[in-house]
Amino acid sequence: MNTTPDSEQHPSDIAPPGTPGTGENVCTYCMGRGNTDNGQPCVMCGGTGVVIAGVGGG
Ligand SMILES: [Zn+2]
Repeated sequence: MNTTPDSEQHPSDIAPPGTPGTGENVCTYCMGRGNTDNGQPCVMCGGTGVVIAGVGGG
């Protein structure tokens, strides 16, 4: 498990990173680019291009 010191949660994250039952998914707000058309960091994913979503593994 790869943990990082930065456990900041972003608006699109349903849970903090590393939460069981969740996983990274492409941010649908910026389509994984990490920034918006304005060149600003995506507010939904914090500029990472990924968000934490439920994986629904059963
Ligand atoms: Zn985004």
